[in-house]
This record gives sequence, C-alpha cells and structure tokens, in this order.
Amino acid sequence: MTTKPDQTGIKHECNRCGREEGLVSRYDIYLCRQCFREVARDMGAKKYS
Ligand SMILES: [Zn+2]
Repeated sequence: MTTKPDQTGIKHECNRCGREEGLVSRYDIYLCRQCFREVARDMGAKKYS
C-alpha cells in the first residue's frame, strides 16, 4: 500500500529488493546499501567505497 509507484516514475525503494531503508539514490539509481554494494562491485566501481 505504501510502496505503490506513481506514474511520475519516482520510486523511493530499492530497485532490486524493494527495501526502503538505507536507500542510495546516486547515479540515477535507487538501491539499498546492500544491493548498492553488490551492484557497485558488479560494475567494478571500487572507488565508491
Ligand atoms: Zn536492495
């Protein structure tokens, strides 16, 4: 009920797991810290630490 995406395209939840806690909204992506770490590592972006 609280996580229903509007047609504005603005989401405030992790794109990966849907979590709302610890969201990271950098680089035009919305990911929680856990997923962000995994994705960042996937992209080989070690400088994000
Ligand atoms: Zn996540």
